[in-house]
Amino acid sequence: MLAPGFTGRCRAPEIDEGPTAGVGMEQLGDGDGPIDLHEYRHGLKLRKETRETSLWENKRGYACPACGDPFEGLFTTEKRHNTFAATGETPFCIVRETDRLLMFRH
Ligand SMILES: [Zn+2]
Repeated sequence: MLAPGFTGRCRAPEIDEGPTAGVGMEQLGDGDGPIDLHEYRHGLKLRKETRETSLWENKRGYACPACGDPFEGLFTTEKRHNTFAATGETPFCIVRETDRLLMFRH
């Protein structure tokens, strides 16, 4: 039975059960200075590494320092020029450090 005057749609609120639900989300970096990825080695899996770039998989559901949502992958580069292949609808965030660029893929 709806309360008198109820005009809203009858829909249960969507509960966001992300991969880290109930675990407590840890965010990469402390917002101060460059992010030391090796501090997060236990939760990040290194997929690929070159002299200037690295590609990580977010195994632990760390939160993106740019938007606060968990990300799927992280690409870092120290190159001045980078070309990214279009990934369709995949959103990503960019964090710029003095000598490095971090791209968080969601
Ligand atoms: Zn983000």
